[in-house]
Amino acid sequence: MKAIIVTHGGVGSPVSHGDGCQKAAEEALDTLRKTSSVLQAAVRGAAVLEDDPRFNAGTGSNLRIDGKTIEMDAAVMDSDGNFGAVAGIQMVKNPVLVAELVSKSPHLMLCGPGATEFARRYKIPWYNPITPKARERYKKVKKNLSKRRLPYWAKRWLNLPYHLEGCSDTIGIVVSDGKGNFAGAGSTGGTSYMLRGRIGDTPIIGSGIYVGKKGVVVSTGIGEEIIRRMLSKEVYEKIASGISPQKASDWGLTLFKPQKPANITPVGIIAVNKTDYGISNTHQMAVGIIKQS
Ligand code: ASP
Repeated sequence: MKAIIVTHGGVGSPVSHGDGCQKAAEEALDTLRKTSSVLQAAVRGAAVLEDDPRFNAGTGSNLRIDGKTIEMDAAVMDSDGNFGAVAGIQMVKNPVLVAELVSKSPHLMLCGPGATEFARRYKIPWYNPITPKARERYKKVKKNLSKRRLPYWAKRWLNLPYHLEGCSDTIGIVVSDGKGNFAGAGSTGGTSYMLRGRIGDTPIIGSGIYVGKKGVVVSTGIGEEIIRRMLSKEVYEKIASGISPQKASDWGLTLFKPQKPANITPVGIIAVNKTDYGISNTHQMAVGIIKQS
């Protein structure tokens, strides 16, 4: 088996959190060995990252602007065309497991209370993902907003340097089994400045994730900007045309032209094809990598 697995801990995440990303990649490899399923591998790897409270996904997810609510997004996809996503799901430990269940249903995406209700049908128990770190982060965001005396909903998020306040630490994984099968998964508690009901790129096919017969791409960063560019699909098309995952990912970053150097949109991309991987990021990003030779 010549598997390639890459995981990320969100653009902006401290590189020192790479141990958590590596652990997730190893879990994915172990699952791939046991099940021969790239989808299972991606899901299990993503669940390890969701359970690590340092990351903004599952346990440790960001609070919404009301300071009370956590609404999480997640998606899974494989090169057989299976796709499942949840958006704004609440009170579950592992949104990625629910996304996987959705991929087996007649639907592609479930949102809000319907997604939570669907999880309960599968006996996924009630779980509160709020952590002390998430509360701290929220307090910082609130303080920052009041300093600016802005109605928080009135400005484009990009006018605020919110990547410095931890929009990051979301998680993602890309898996190749070396035989032409690919899968990916992403999961997030969203950004920092978020209204309730806001949905980012992570659960949107072609934006936060895309998988085809030639590879898989998963993105992280400001969801609104990633959706506008359908980033993962665009990068995938480059890979499908024969460009290496590294060059394709580097190209993906060029789609985000900063107005000022200080305003660089935080974006990270991980990608694999059958033989190689690519990682591109505008800011620091924890990653885990396995490339079997
Ligand atoms: N893309 C995620 C979102 O906008 C956040 C992130 O990747 O850090 O919800």
